[in-house]
Amino acid sequence: MSENMTDEKLLELAVKMLDYSYSPYSHYPVGAALLAEDGRVFTGCNVENAAFGNTLCAERTALCKAVSEGARKFTAIAIASRGSAPFPCGACRQSLYEFAPDLRVMVTWDGHVRKTTLRQLLPEGFGPDSL
Ligand SMILES: [Zn+2]
Repeated sequence: MSENMTDEKLLELAVKMLDYSYSPYSHYPVGAALLAEDGRVFTGCNVENAAFGNTLCAERTALCKAVSEGARKFTAIAIASRGSAPFPCGACRQSLYEFAPDLRVMVTWDGHVRKTTLRQLLPEGFGPDSL
């Protein structure tokens, strides 16, 4: 199933999610599309809050949607924004590492695309195997 989802399509879904971003404070919209091993795609956007600490990143929004619908294994995530490369923040790297240390990570902004891996973004990560 997941063979049908190309990197390009996943990136397009992340870009589409920019339309749903609620980012009145940072003015930095972020969209994400998380590909589960079973082929399902879970999308997310950042959801900011006047109490800044309650803000949710797009990546963790997508991850929570996925886990709450039974997906636990993931192969890739695409993240989109505008103006600069939207690499996941530290909290999102850790949250994604819990389920998918070998996740492929793609970011796109203003027509640019960069591809990397979660292991490169979070070397020596702390996960379930660490306990
Ligand atoms: Zn984040």
